[in-house]
Amino acid sequence: MDYNEGEFFRNSIKLLEDAANVVNCDPNVLERMKRPKRAIIVSIPVRMDDYRVKVFTGYRVQHSSTLGPYKGGIRYHQDVTLSEVAALATLMTFKCSLLNLPLGGGKGGVRVDPTQLSRTEKQNLTRRYTSELGTAIGPNVDIPAPDMGTDAQTMAWIMDTYSQEVGYAQPGVVTGKPVEIGGSLGRTGATGLGVVFTAEKALEHRKMKLEGTTMVVQGFGNVGTHAALYAHQRGAKILAVSDVSGGIHDPKGLDIPDLLRYVAEHKVVKGYPKAEPISNEELLALKCDVLAPCALENVITHENAGKINAKIIVEGANGPCTNEASKILHERDVLTIPDILANGGGVIVSYFEWVQGLQHYFWTEDEVNAKMKLIITSAFDKVWELKQEKKVDMRTAAMGSAVRRLERAMLLRGLYPR
Ligand code: NAD
Repeated sequence: MDYNEGEFFRNSIKLLEDAANVVNCDPNVLERMKRPKRAIIVSIPVRMDDYRVKVFTGYRVQHSSTLGPYKGGIRYHQDVTLSEVAALATLMTFKCSLLNLPLGGGKGGVRVDPTQLSRTEKQNLTRRYTSELGTAIGPNVDIPAPDMGTDAQTMAWIMDTYSQEVGYAQPGVVTGKPVEIGGSLGRTGATGLGVVFTAEKALEHRKMKLEGTTMVVQGFGNVGTHAALYAHQRGAKILAVSDVSGGIHDPKGLDIPDLLRYVAEHKVVKGYPKAEPISNEELLALKCDVLAPCALENVITHENAGKINAKIIVEGANGPCTNEASKILHERDVLTIPDILANGGGVIVSYFEWVQGLQHYFWTEDEVNAKMKLIITSAFDKVWELKQEKKVDMRTAAMGSAVRRLERAMLLRGLYPR
């Protein structure tokens, strides 16, 4: 197993090298940025409902703690690999750096199809994974959060297991918890709301407004549903959405609250009676103002980048466009708001949750959303400025801006021992 096995990790490092070059990053510092600090691999034995024991593989990759404790989600998916988790951990470091948060980057994953687990099996898996990670996580060490296949309930189980093992309640070990046990108002929808805030900024630069624009959303989980809902509430027309079951399309615009009620009952968008079915490939190629890929990585590649018919892409997911695709899109003047900026709303509000927990003082949802907007839009402006100054695309500018802050911090802290 090697970090470089996966295309996503190789793409992330290539992007880092290109951006470091643009901002003249110190080569010794760059060498260190290219490798995660630590990777933990655990075997997770789980008692299944039929009494058999299955052993799953779990990872936690801790990329950098230069700016603060490691921070990053935990993903449950059948295709999770060490290389993918390492790529995601690397992106978290640069995301936190770009957003000016006092946090480093980490990520976790378990190679399991969560849709095949009962609630009890998922709980057993989560508790044993937490216990295997032991003191490698903690409020001052490494703070997980939800990602694909995990949610607030998963975080509650992690918090409880960790607290049982240390002997007292430790809500600060995770973010994205339910509000009843120390979660922040606004956390669940934060990533989707951040996607909408950055889409609004991008539209401004194209002299357009969100109201009346057409939007397509791939992925209808945490990020996709909230992005679609908040955009719909602000007057955007959502032409199509999709999930793992396929897509649905209505050129007049979908009624998102009605669709959410359907999905709450049927779990997937497939079969929604008030729209036409559409494949995921067709959906990505639909003519629209804003395309928001909010599902998986590597969905826009050199093969379909030429077919994209959107003016703006806002990356709700991590790594949805490959490097080759990004180049093609840039040449075709499709403005792409990269993941580390566009989906930063989640980690910003995770940071707020951590701060509120440390202070034992909780804010209103309006306060949370307003403070998040301030951070994400300031980061957008900083990236836009660097893009104009260096004449590069938004992705390189976002990474370049993140590299600059981390580089300064690494040089100040120095290398131990020298
Ligand atoms: P989720 O599990 O809630 O939802 C994922 C969605 O993608 C589901 O609707 C699923 O059906 C769909 N999907 C899966 N495979 C698909 C395919 N082949 N085609 C189309 N749709 C497919 O996950 P999430 O939390 O919404 O995360 C989605 C992405 O956003 C991931 O890349 C994640 O890393 C990123 N992200 C999430 C957060 C967060 O706060 N949840 C924050 C930052 C980034």
